[in-house]
Parts: sequence; structure tokens; C-alpha cells
Amino acid sequence: MANPKIKSSAQTAKKSNATAGRKPAAKSLYSKADLEEIFRRFSIQRPEPKGELEHVNPFTLVVAVALSAQATDAGVNKATRALFAVADTPQKMLDLGEERIREYIKTIGLYRNKAKNVVALSEKLITDFGGEVPRTREELITLPGVGRKTANVVLSMAFGQATMAVDTHIFRIANRLLLAPGKTPDEVEQRLMQIIPDQYLYHAHHWLILHGRYVCKARKPECERCVIADLCRSPEKTWDIPAPLVELPAQIIGAEAAG
Ligand code: SF4
Repeated sequence: MANPKIKSSAQTAKKSNATAGRKPAAKSLYSKADLEEIFRRFSIQRPEPKGELEHVNPFTLVVAVALSAQATDAGVNKATRALFAVADTPQKMLDLGEERIREYIKTIGLYRNKAKNVVALSEKLITDFGGEVPRTREELITLPGVGRKTANVVLSMAFGQATMAVDTHIFRIANRLLLAPGKTPDEVEQRLMQIIPDQYLYHAHHWLILHGRYVCKARKPECERCVIADLCRSPEKTWDIPAPLVELPAQIIGAEAAG
């Protein structure tokens, strides 16, 4: 597992250009003090949250995130461990070739198309970027199979930028809690970037994903285990006494990663 550049939560995060030039978000239901308190509690639970996709460098992170569309992190990790052991650079991936890449990732949904994209993005990295993963969203999204969400994950985990990659968990939480309601991931991204206090912005993406994955679950939120149950304004809430605020055991990468 790589050692992604995780900044201390105490470090004030710089907002990326995600909100630049956009109109202001609708007012959040939550006061500034509520928002501070929500993210303060998340920061105590998980002082150093990490993404659960295994990778060994920025290139393998791009590949892992691109492979994770409509798949669980655990499922992607199982396939990429062996793949990255033999191909951890764009050139090695090209040398491996599409057919053999397919063999490695055939347990992942949409693997044929994804194998094509891995080859195409490796080619583009070599021809346009000297084999290096670019550091801007605009450049990243020119890579085949890399959309805004993937670019945001890479900017955050590989290059330490505060971004908000809205996945299924974040989209659900933002709407369920009426925290940053929006019809599209893009709308939710803009609103979250505007309401999350700056000092919590860098880790907010992982806190929300992990909260959604393990507590505020899709089918039935486990409100009795929730540290923000008293602050939550969700109509789906079933309990309003917050769970004890303690630091959780270190994450087990890839465990229980069902979406
Ligand atoms: S109280 Fe329930 S609905 Fe609200 S955030 Fe917690 S788990 Fe989700």
C-alpha cells in the first residue's frame, strides 16, 4: 500500500478551484457552528483517514480509481495487487498489453472497457505527459477513463490538494442529511466545498465516504452508532443520541468495502 500524502487535519486546506467562478450555494440547513462540530467529531473518530484503494504511486492510483467505477474498493484491490506487482508504470502497462491486463482485472465489472482505457491512458501519459501523472484537474480529465471524480481523488490522495470527489456515499449523505443537497454529483461537490470549514476540508472527502460506508449506510442508516446523531437533520434519522466520541481502530484497508 502506498503512503499517500495525507496532511494533518490541523493544517488549513486550500480550496481547489472546484468552486471558482460558480454561483453561491443555497444556504445549508446547518449553522456554521453545527458544521464545525460535525467535522470536529469526524476528526476525532478518524484523525488520519485514508482511502481504501491500494496503489503504489500516482500512476497506479489513477488506474485503481479508474477501475473502481461501479465496483467496490475491496474487489479492485484483489485484482490490482497482482497487476501492480508486474506493471506499476505506464510503459510496463503497455508492455503487458490489453489482453493480459484483461486477465488480471476480469473479476471487476466492465473489465473489457476498463482494460482498453488502462492501455489508452498509459499511452497518453507517455506521449503527452512524459510518463508522469499530471497535477491539474484539467489535464487529468484528458486521460481516457478519467472523469472529474477520478481526477479529484488523484489530486487529493497523490498530490495533497483539498478536493471533494463525490462518490455514491457522499452523494447519499449530502442529500440524506440535507447537508449539501444537489441533483448531480457536480452540484453536491460545489456545495460541500462551500460549506465545509476550511481546516477540515482536506480530510472531509474520506470522512464522509467512511461515515457512509460504515454507519450512514445506503439501505438503513445505523443512527445508534452515529456520532453526529444529535446534529443530523435527516428525515430518515431514527435516533438522536450521539454515539460515544472515541478514536476508531486503524482502518483495515479493503475490509467491509461493500458499497
Ligand atoms: S443520525 Fe442516522 S441518518 Fe443522520 S448521519 Fe447519523 S446515521 Fe446518518
